[in-house]
Amino acid sequence: MATARKPITPKPPRTRQKVLVILEEQCKQCNLCVEFCPKDVLCINMSKYNRKGYHPVTACDIDACVNCEFCERICPDMAIFLTEKEEARKAYDTGAMEDGTVIPEFEEAAEGEN
Ligand code: SF4
Ligand code: SF4
Repeated sequence: MATARKPITPKPPRTRQKVLVILEEQCKQCNLCVEFCPKDVLCINMSKYNRKGYHPVTACDIDACVNCEFCERICPDMAIFLTEKEEARKAYDTGAMEDGTVIPEFEEAAEGEN
């Protein structure tokens, strides 16, 4: 007897090649990236101010990021972008990042370890 049901094939885990980087000091809280992100990854961090007095953008759901780069393209201040994970990991681990540089994926992983 024929069956209409297709075999269940587990999907491989989703891997992101790039990580999201936020330069908090360059963010002007314009909200464009928040509005344009198709996965609702981003939000404004109302509990933080940068040196210009703006609330910078943050990642509220970094696991949902699909590396589409819409945020990078829409940001008028180059305050958010994606970069190669390995390269970013080296800079993050050695502390070679400018003040106000946030890599939400790494921070979330570090919080999970604590
Ligand atoms: S890369 Fe795409 S999914 Fe990820 S935060 Fe930017 S706009 Fe959202
Ligand atoms: S990261 Fe860029 S697009 Fe997003 S709120 Fe800040 S200035 Fe606007």
